[in-house]
Amino acid sequence: MSGKIMNNLGSLPVVFARGDGAVLTDTEGKTYIDFVSGIGVNCLGHNHPALVKALTDQIHKQIHISNYYNSDTGLAFADALLAATGMDRVFFGNSGAEANEAAIKLARKAGWLASEQSGGPERKNIVTVKKSFHGRTIATLAATAQDKFHPDSFAPYPDGFTAIDANDFAALETCFDETVCAFMFECVQGEGGVNLLDPAWIQAACAAAKKAGALVIADEVQTGMGRTGTLLACDALGIAPDVVTLAKGIAGGVPFGACLAKGRAAEVFVPGDHQSTFGGNPLACAAGLVVLAELSKKGFLAQVTENGAYIRDKIAGWKIPGLTGIRGKGLMIGFDITGTASGPASAGEVQKACLETGGAGFDGLCVSTAGPRTVRFLPPLIIGRKEIDAGLEILYTVLTR
Ligand SMILES: *Cc1c(COP(=O)(O)O)cnc(C)c1O
Repeated sequence: MSGKIMNNLGSLPVVFARGDGAVLTDTEGKTYIDFVSGIGVNCLGHNHPALVKALTDQIHKQIHISNYYNSDTGLAFADALLAATGMDRVFFGNSGAEANEAAIKLARKAGWLASEQSGGPERKNIVTVKKSFHGRTIATLAATAQDKFHPDSFAPYPDGFTAIDANDFAALETCFDETVCAFMFECVQGEGGVNLLDPAWIQAACAAAKKAGALVIADEVQTGMGRTGTLLACDALGIAPDVVTLAKGIAGGVPFGACLAKGRAAEVFVPGDHQSTFGGNPLACAAGLVVLAELSKKGFLAQVTENGAYIRDKIAGWKIPGLTGIRGKGLMIGFDITGTASGPASAGEVQKACLETGGAGFDGLCVSTAGPRTVRFLPPLIIGRKEIDAGLEILYTVLTR
């Protein structure tokens, strides 16, 4: 894309200039259906009138205030977020990784407090789930249980993380000993391949963790804020985490991360323990208030569930050789490309071909990937049937020509 941007992401050959709803326009005027929404960020789509108005109003009021003080907008968003999620306290940061760093620090301190009190062994270890993704900072990489994220070039990584297999009941019997301070997981693994958890397993895992005195941390950076059809994905799994992290969609496109805590977890941090200069930025909080208000409107989340099922049913009905494993929850959807003689051989090839293939009056389709084989959809939650059908028409062309 530009030789001036650090060479750490392979950019696709398109430069976007604007967006409206679920449609993006590039600098040449070509239009694209958006099944990515900034990797699950633009949950209200692009140029959403209420979001634009709230941000414009907030710019005139105040963009930033130091964390020495509170802002009225920041307090209003904290209240609204806690009321909607049923959590007790929140830490505001700027990204998913930062929200997870806060959760990791909180869990380590909770473990330290517990072993100080009991005189028992150090409680420092965090149990994670294989194929997870928790961020790109050094500690969140260590928490991420995928070897490809641990190259020697960035070593050493902090220790104290142990990964178990998802849906492995036997592992639950041994992994939670008195050295464990937390169990950390995604309700649907995103980056690791759109992997669903067996609700019975995650319920058993959370119960085992709590029984052993460990905190339960749900990384809802991708699954939260309505993505899977409920405000939080853990609501539908029948679990009640002590800590929930949010980012991506939480402020509709403005950088924001939040670490929410309940019960004893909410009392762990004291002044001086943790902070972030931009955290709770009023601009981002103004955006967050709009996102929460829109998601709370009658029928909004039901439509996420319905549209997700519609997309999955359509694709499942195609019976295209080389396309398998259509799965997902709400508008977090994945399927695998196993490769055929004529069609695209990898998820990356599908991604590139969709961008270059027109249909239904549009010039292309934006899709995401999750690993080499999995194509991932994270459309804006407001996407309508017209855009869904247009996107699927382009995808069908790419997979069958
Ligand atoms: C994207 C993601 C992160 C990291 O978020 P950033 O804002 O990129 O730091 C962490 N956890 C999950 C589950 C994610 O999907």
